[in-house]
Amino acid sequence: MAMESGAKCFDCRRPFQPEAIIHYDHPWGWVVEGYRERQWLGFRCLAPRCGYETSFDKLGYRHLRPSELTPPSRP
Ligand SMILES: [Zn+2]
Repeated sequence: MAMESGAKCFDCRRPFQPEAIIHYDHPWGWVVEGYRERQWLGFRCLAPRCGYETSFDKLGYRHLRPSELTPPSRP
């Protein structure tokens, strides 16, 4: 996934820095190399008194919808 340059905080419009990326396990997220679980990705604004979290979803990256999840395989 190419990093979008010029992404800005949806609240204060501050441009994001690469070190502002946050991620955590999430079943609807994106496949990230090196992680077993899909990861929900976003930026946490580093501006003082902001801290708004802008997910990659808001930045236009398509992610899985619940209806697209593969049903668990039956034994
Ligand atoms: Zn902000």
